Amino acid sequence: MIKVGINGYGTIGRRVAQAVRLQKDMIVTGIVKTRPDYVAESAMHDFRIFAADAKSLESFNNSSLKASGTLEDLISDSDIIVDATPEGMGRKNIETYRKNGLKAIFQGGEDHEIAQASFNAYSNFMDSWGKDYVRVVSCNTTALARTVTSVRKSFGVKHVSATLIRRATDPNDSSKGPINALEPSLKFPSHHAPDLQTVIGNVDVDTVAIKAPTTLMHVHVVSIDLEKQADQKQVMAEMGRYRRIMLVSGKSGLTSTAQIMDMAREMGRSRSDLYEIAVWKESVNLKGTKLNYIQAVHQESDVVPENVDAIRAMFQLMDDEKSISETDKTLNIGKRV
Ligand code: NAD
Repeated sequence: MIKVGINGYGTIGRRVAQAVRLQKDMIVTGIVKTRPDYVAESAMHDFRIFAADAKSLESFNNSSLKASGTLEDLISDSDIIVDATPEGMGRKNIETYRKNGLKAIFQGGEDHEIAQASFNAYSNFMDSWGKDYVRVVSCNTTALARTVTSVRKSFGVKHVSATLIRRATDPNDSSKGPINALEPSLKFPSHHAPDLQTVIGNVDVDTVAIKAPTTLMHVHVVSIDLEKQADQKQVMAEMGRYRRIMLVSGKSGLTSTAQIMDMAREMGRSRSDLYEIAVWKESVNLKGTKLNYIQAVHQESDVVPENVDAIRAMFQLMDDEKSISETDKTLNIGKRV
């Protein structure tokens, strides 16, 4: 049993904690919270809570919620920490993990350089085999890596070009909106292109991102120059072989991110999460070797199974195929009902 501590219990941390809890080969030793709020109150039912530091421990002591110690205590009881603290904090935290000889996983808000490898289960699972520090790439990069990898294996990929229409913030965040604007990334390519290359390797990539006033999902318009000619049926058949990609159709009423999220609710998914990348069948279009498609990305959850698989790679527990299918089984990934 791998003992997993979760540092940072926000959008990503709380989901990774629940996903780890469902695995047979790992347990959650505890989660780190900065303050005794409603999130800590609900977390108490499933996990031991540790305060971020002495000052935050004091705030727990002054409340009705009990903390089991601080991050230092959690570290001493864990084999690995999944760091899901806000963007940029991992840089400081890695020193603490290193000092304690502990493995750690970081998230996409950190730079690639923080870790020994960036991770995507379909693209480069084995690059993290036995590593001590790994970074699971961002929600956008995870989505692109999954679908690009699915077509790359059969048809080869010469060039990827993607327009990312990004949700402005997550649904539980009221500090950033409402934003009545579309905000383009002014740099071309946006940072997503080099990030994608950290997991898919040496493929030519161009990306541009536009922030939009929505909290539900991102939408990507993807255009790929394939090495071999293919038709729509063949591409959909390839994508369909991957459980973490879900082919959806406007004909069944799934015409926007609103209905896709509603479908996840109807499916009874935990927190209405959709771990799969939803690719609209109607959008899969080929002109010779040029492939176009549109995909929707549930930013709060697509990286969750990746964190679980990264743990298995780092502890050399099982190969990619086995790990992915184990994770998918526990999270109902690939099941529509
Ligand atoms: P979040 O703000 O929802 O959660 C971060 C949590 O860490 C919050 O609960 C915050 O209170 C807590 N925290 C703050 N200081 C802390 C400290 N010193 N010690 C412990 N906890 C502390 O952020 P998030 O969206 O979960 O993002 C976490 C990481 O995941 C970032 O690197 C982000 O870029 C990445 N990521 C986010 C998304 C997304 O869409 N939200 C998707 C993929 C990856």
